[in-house]
Amino acid sequence: MIKNKKLLIAGNWKMNGFKKNLSVISLLIKYIKLKKLKSSEILICPPNTLIDSFSNLAKRSKLLIGAQDCSENETGAFTGEVSPSMLKDSGAQAVILGHSERREYQEESNKLIHAKAKNSLKNDLLTIVCVGESLIQKKNQNTLRVIGEQLKKSLPDKINPNNLVIAYEPIWAIGSGLIPDNADIYKVHSFISNKLNSRYGNKSKKIKILYGGSVNKKNALSILSIKYVDGALVGGASLKFSDFKAILDFCN
Ligand code: PEP
Repeated sequence: MIKNKKLLIAGNWKMNGFKKNLSVISLLIKYIKLKKLKSSEILICPPNTLIDSFSNLAKRSKLLIGAQDCSENETGAFTGEVSPSMLKDSGAQAVILGHSERREYQEESNKLIHAKAKNSLKNDLLTIVCVGESLIQKKNQNTLRVIGEQLKKSLPDKINPNNLVIAYEPIWAIGSGLIPDNADIYKVHSFISNKLNSRYGNKSKKIKILYGGSVNKKNALSILSIKYVDGALVGGASLKFSDFKAILDFCN
């Protein structure tokens, strides 16, 4: 159990889940109620099609529901897009932005992620901005340079530190079962913390920094114990209640 941290554990369901998965959320809500969480926060980001029903179920619980992307625009002729205010309208309280899968498959640039982050912060959504290096960048010892640039270009100047979260997700660790060693996670998280401090000053102390990439019940306790790690962004292990619960068991 991690006693001295206010952790945020976020589950990214990606393009997984149907209405029949409502039972996972019900189990999660029951678990959170019984566990009587003191300070940690739990968030599930399902596909947009499930936000409304999940957030209805989670209404009177401490479980937060969020989205996996949002538009940089407010409303209008943007076919297929969903704005932060529409996400809020369907019950979302948070959004993940700049996930490496969107940076790669939708070719999202830092500039676009910056505009999306600005819009979601303006709409008071808890905004999780993902950063992380590829395997080649790591091998070329460019990890900190890449992350420094992503932070600089993806984050807006005007922020509400209570609503901004950074997720460090090494791309090579996502879904691969591989994770950096603890010293490397510490190095990157302290680098991010320093960058946030020089940009936002005192406010930056409130910005949580999550680790993401193959977090599971076996490695969660050790990762969550690292200094500057304020929680986890969990993909695969958030889809099955028993796997996710085993990670949540470490929260207070
Ligand atoms: C993710 O995609 O954000 C992620 C961390 O996935 P996984 O936990 O499956 O590596």
